[in-house]
Amino acid sequence: MTVPYLQIDGIRKLYGDVVATDRVDLTIAEGEFMTFLGPSGSGKSTTLYILAGFQDPTAGDIRLRGQSILNTPSHKRNIGMVFQRYTLFPHLSVGENVAFPLRVRRMGSTEIAERVKRALALVRLEGFEDRMPANMSGGQQQRVALARALVYDPPVLLMDEPLSALDKKLREEIQFEIRRIHQETGVTILYVTHDQEEALRLSDRIAIFNKGRIEQVGTGPELYAEPATRFVADFIGDSAFLPGELSDVAGQRTGLRFPDGTRVAAVPLHGQGRAGAKADLMLRPERIELDRAPGPDGATLPVTVEDLTFLGNNTTVSARTAWGAPLTVRLNFGHPLTGQLARGSHLHIRWAPEAAHAFLRE
Ligand code: ADP
Ligand code: MG
Repeated sequence: MTVPYLQIDGIRKLYGDVVATDRVDLTIAEGEFMTFLGPSGSGKSTTLYILAGFQDPTAGDIRLRGQSILNTPSHKRNIGMVFQRYTLFPHLSVGENVAFPLRVRRMGSTEIAERVKRALALVRLEGFEDRMPANMSGGQQQRVALARALVYDPPVLLMDEPLSALDKKLREEIQFEIRRIHQETGVTILYVTHDQEEALRLSDRIAIFNKGRIEQVGTGPELYAEPATRFVADFIGDSAFLPGELSDVAGQRTGLRFPDGTRVAAVPLHGQGRAGAKADLMLRPERIELDRAPGPDGATLPVTVEDLTFLGNNTTVSARTAWGAPLTVRLNFGHPLTGQLARGSHLHIRWAPEAAHAFLRE
């Protein structure tokens, strides 16, 4: 059996009686881009700080190539770190900021100059050595912070919401740079964000954090297609959740009954529950077909159109079921119904069997 590269093993962290992380387990492969995605306060930064050595866990272990690093002080862990806010030394030039970790490591001046040059080239800031941070944009300052974190070739790079202080256009530009740097250097990256689009764009795999725990780990497509919990289904992508109750539970499949008596049949059931338990039918908007005629029995619902928004590549249709639950359907540009719908149109939705999931109400 091969030893995992980086292993987070049962990390628990209490601040007084606040449980910051409950039991975080995760294995990261060498060279992987792993993102921690979750709402504010879900324990992402705490996990990162424990990896960096800024915090000690209450319980659990961190192993790099099988060896615990918990007793290695932060500055000897050789882990690069980039934070949300610009953390450059304001009184030092860009070159001296990037050189700082190398001076701490007592490297010779020729090698320092070479490495600083290379690190600045990596983040596309060639020739910026003599600039002062105050005379640079936020995006440029974050690039300098990235160069400083990478200049000593750390095997692992941690980033805690490094782009959240930047505007959208700049954020996307630097996301692209971070991807390129990951591919060029092969560094293992652990990246924290609360932005699902950023997570999907950057990551090999994503760990979904909720209340100090990881709810699911997977690639973007895996999490999107097979969410393990309602929370994950809600956090990745936007879905309709139609509240109802379980009926006809048979193993991993279930029927659902809605308040007006409408039923749907044989939907994959996540979690365990009996007939009568409160549960939601989840439908991804782009997997819902809208039609004038009902679909197959058990996989169709009548809806009424409430609003239509033309968005170029699609028209977003806001509708309600017969018992008043809201949902959204997207019609691709050129869909035969586009242009034929109006507020108040009565239609039916249907869906492919794999496009629906049932989640127990939490
Ligand atoms: P995230 O990065 O996902 O937003 P954090 O890891 O920062 O979440 O925080 C997780 C929980 O731990 C939150 O409830 C937060 O308030 C609490 N917490 C974090 N750091 C401290 C601290 N130094 N002292 C007390 N509570 C903290
Ligand atoms: Mg945080």
